Parts: sequence; C-alpha cells; structure tokens
Amino acid sequence: MIILSGGTGTPKLLAGMRKVIPEEEITVIVNTAEDTWVSGNLVCPDIDTVLYLFADTIDTAKWWGIRDDTFTTNDSLKRAGHPEIMRIGDKDRATHILRSDLIRKGRTLTEAIRELARSSGIRASILPMTDHPVATHITTPECEMHFQEYWITHGGSPDVLGVNIHDIDAAAPSDAVLSAIDGDDSVIIGPSNPITSIGPILRMPGMREILREKRVVAISPIIGDAPVSGPAGRLMHACGYEVSSAGVLECYRDLLGDLPDVFIIDRDDIEIGTDGGVEIVRADTMMTSVDKSEALSRRVVDSFRNLPVQIHA
Ligand code: GDP
Repeated sequence: MIILSGGTGTPKLLAGMRKVIPEEEITVIVNTAEDTWVSGNLVCPDIDTVLYLFADTIDTAKWWGIRDDTFTTNDSLKRAGHPEIMRIGDKDRATHILRSDLIRKGRTLTEAIRELARSSGIRASILPMTDHPVATHITTPECEMHFQEYWITHGGSPDVLGVNIHDIDAAAPSDAVLSAIDGDDSVIIGPSNPITSIGPILRMPGMREILREKRVVAISPIIGDAPVSGPAGRLMHACGYEVSSAGVLECYRDLLGDLPDVFIIDRDDIEIGTDGGVEIVRADTMMTSVDKSEALSRRVVDSFRNLPVQIHA
C-alpha cells in the first residue's frame, strides 16, 4: 500500500494504518518541499514526523518533534544571540545532525532516511518524494518567503497571494519512489494539505501519468469550510480553490488530470456534488485517537476492495 503524506493529517492516519496492515507492506511517499537548513542541518519536518510515528516517539500533542524532548541546545543558541527559526528539541536535532552528516558524505536523502529508519527498527518504507531540493515559497503582499518563514516566523498571519513550489519541474521522483509505485496497484492520498503537502508530490514530472494507472483513494483534510488544522484553507483560497471537500477534489482533478477513484469525506461534511467518475464515501475522519485512526484506516482499505484491480498490457 502506497500512501502520500505530509506531516500531520496523514501521519495521524498512519497511526491507525499500521494496525490494519503489516508495517512492512506500508510505503509512505513524503513531501520534501517544506525542508529547510537550520544551523547547518537539514530539517525535513514531514519526513521526521513519519519517522517518529513509526519509531513510536512522535509527540502527538504537536504532531512534530519527539515526545518529552529537551531544548538545551536551542536555548543555548538563543542565549548566544543565535535564535533559530524553529524550536528544535535535542533528540530531534540528533536526527537532523545524522541526516546532514550522511548527506555531506555523499549519500542521497533517500539513503539517509533509509539509514535513519533502519537504526530505529522501522519496517515501513519511508521514501522522500525526491532527492532534488525543492522549496515551497509563499507570496505575500510584501514579498515572497519560504513556507517555514511564513508559517513559523510569521505564524501564518500574512495575506497569501500565491504559492510557488520552486524547482518542482526539475524534481524527478526518486528511483525508490518509482519502483515502489511500479510494484503496487493501490495509492492512498492521505488527509494532508492539498497545496503544500500533496501538491508537490503530484506535481513532480511523470507522477500524474504513473498514478493514472493506479487505484487512488483520497481522504479530505477539510470538513465543512475549514481544515482540521493548519493553513490549508488560506492556501487553497489563494490558489483559486473553494475551501471545502469539493475544492480539494477539484484541486486533485487538476493535479492528477483525473479524479481519484474514491474520495472519503467526513460524515458531518456538507453535501458534495460530483459529475460522476468518483465514488464519495462518508466516514468519521476526525482522528482524535488511535482507535479512530484505525477505524478510518479500515474504511480506506475496504474501499479498495470494491475497486477493480487495474490490469495493464
Ligand atoms: P503539514 O505538513 O504539517 O501541513 O501536515 P499535512 O499536510 O500532512 O496535514 C495538514 C492537513 O491535515 C490539514 O489540512 C488538516 O486539515 C488535516 N488534518 C489534520 N488532522 C486531521 C484529521 O484528524 N482528519 C482529517 N480529515 N484531516 C486532518
């Protein structure tokens, strides 16, 4: 099972999915467009959340960082006049140091993450979407800034005029991503931000053609007229999409050049009109506990059972 992921909504789903299907059968393709270098180390927020989820160390109060982490280095840097853009925990920073060390020694990001996953005893495959650097920038009335500057430094408060994923047209999916998708018929688009998490994955050259041959089930990150958390609403609006599950579906139609086979929306969501071609399934998508994530994961897996297996010449 292939699952496309950002760093909050889909990891919540993964917490349940690993109870439904064997972990070694799960491949997560993770957004890298929010990655950034901080104090000499490469921070990969979405990948790290997925790593910590499978390592059972994720801080589920925030959905980033390691549970019960300390902040000694971050505090010392601040006292020394070097405030960091992110409040990075000490154990979390160790991940960043190890990854950056491997990269400086010539390993790809994919190889570095494989090494980190192996050393944490993780059996799922966690694959960065690409080994090429890509960066999401937000255009505000004043200037264009990196997504992390918009979201962390400015708390997501500036008006958003547009979203640019820099270098996405040159970002080939990694060989590991291509071979994982080649070997699997079923792809889940998790309940992640359609603009800044799923968008970069689907916009890599060749992805839409590859996914057109797959059975695709997507879960909406929007309920009613608002996301469950984060800036998805404002970013969708800035990109010309209605902030609703219908808007998410329209966004995926544009990204995929086609509709997903199944679109799962919340049981309390507003009616969604479709012009056919997609099965709308209602479920409780508010993952406030692992039990609820597991129940949703079962619905997701079940929804593939009704889809014909794709047979290609
Ligand atoms: P990011 O990388 O931290 O932005 O995280 P993601 O893109 O993976 O997830 C952000 C999206 O997850 C937001 O648009 C939220 O609305 C959505 N989300 C978070 N929790 C839930 C949940 O319990 N259910 C659903 N349906 N969506 C959720």
